[in-house]
Formats: sequence, C-alpha cells, structure tokens
Amino acid sequence: MGWEPAVGVGRPFPAHTRNPNSALSRGQAEPFPWGRVLHVLARHYENGTWRVPRLRERGAPAFAVLVSTLLSRRTRDEIVEIATLRLLERYPDPSSMARASIARIVRLIHGVGLERSKAEGIRGAARMITSRFGGKVPVTESALLQLPNVGPKTAHAVRVFAYRKPGVPVDVHMLRVTRRLGVVRGATIASAQVELARSVPVRLQGLLNPVLVQHGQNICQARRPRCPDCPISALCPRMGVDDPGVVPGRDS
Ligand code: SF4
Repeated sequence: MGWEPAVGVGRPFPAHTRNPNSALSRGQAEPFPWGRVLHVLARHYENGTWRVPRLRERGAPAFAVLVSTLLSRRTRDEIVEIATLRLLERYPDPSSMARASIARIVRLIHGVGLERSKAEGIRGAARMITSRFGGKVPVTESALLQLPNVGPKTAHAVRVFAYRKPGVPVDVHMLRVTRRLGVVRGATIASAQVELARSVPVRLQGLLNPVLVQHGQNICQARRPRCPDCPISALCPRMGVDDPGVVPGRDS
C-alpha cells in the first residue's frame, strides 16, 4: 500500500496537526508518493502567471548552468539571469573565461553581491575545466566537486539541468517545502540533499527541483504559506507551519 494521508484527498489537515500516519511517523515504512505529488504540482503550474524558477529546462549548456548557479548564492533569480547573460556574452566558454581578468568579471557581474569571491570561483572553475577536464564541464559528481566553489547543490544542478542525469540540487525553497511535507528531518540543505537523494526515485529526480522551487516561490512561501490554495494540501502534515522559527527559508 502506498503513502496515504490521514484524511482524504481534498481535505487538508487542520492547523497544528501532526499527521500520525505520515511517512516520518511510520519510520518511512511506506514510501512517500513522490510521483503523485510532483505530477499534481507540475500540472498545477502548467498554466497561469506563476513565477518560474531560473533553472527549469533540462539540456541547457553545462557551462551556463555552472556559471549561473555559482552566481546565484544569496542573489535573486532576475539579477542572476542578467549577470549570467552579460558574462557569457563576453566569455562564452571555459577557455575564454580562464583568460579573463578578475576585475573584468567583477564589472560584468556587478549587482550579484560577493562579486570578487564569485568572480574568483568562476575563473578558477574555468581554469580547472580547461587544464584538467579538456575544456568540458565534467559530468560526474566527484569531478564536479573538485572545481573551486562547487558544492553538492551546484554539482547536482549541472548534472540535472545540463546532462539530464539524476540529481537533487536543493535550495532554501526545497528545504522548506520538504520539511513541511514531513519527508525531510534535517535542518540544513546538505542533510536534506542526502535524505532526498535516498528517498526520491531516480526517475523522478529531474522533476524535483523545478517543481518544488516553483511551489516554494508561489504557494508554499516562507512567511505565509497559502495552504488553502495548495493542490497537495491533503498530502501535507504542514510540519512547523505554525511555528515559523522551526522552518528555515525565505521568500525570494
Ligand atoms: S502550502 Fe506548503 S505547508 Fe501548506 S499544504 Fe501546501 S505544501 Fe503543505
């Protein structure tokens, strides 16, 4: 039998309720219905004027995914998009970026914050890609993690969005949504990544980030989640929703 909420579909859990039948409460004895949740959300966001995540389509150029993810730390998507376009227009590949001056990169990414550190990370990654990986952004997680400033989130973003490989790039929206859904216990992005990589079937991992980020940006927002409008409310125990201090994350 699959994971089922304590009350029927269409009847959300009342506030303050902890679902006694949740996957967590039952020690993950029954798998969380990831397929159902992700497909309901994907259908919900198909139409309308919803905010769309910066990374959504799979098959994007790997160097562009790498650069934009390195620029995205603590920066709003719209600013990242502009800076990425400006930078890649001037330095479109690892070999040209490897020869760029830090001052020039800093000027081109002006506005993203932490410009110098991000510029050094991007040029350092470009140099290593050129010298160690034959000019091609590597595919494996272990090779990606050798690049300067590249952590698990960036490595998984490159794998999912550039190479269409399984991966779980977790951001603050995903951390918040999955904790409220009761499928993640850890309070950090790193621990959530480990938990999700274990629990989400490989065939669904490509859908996970774009769908949950969009849900976190539009309905399951940090300060005021719109539970009455939520298409998966019947599957959600709303862990910590009435205790905002418990759930990290921001509306951005
Ligand atoms: S908005 Fe978030 S917390 Fe509220 S029911 Fe939906 S997923 Fe759960």
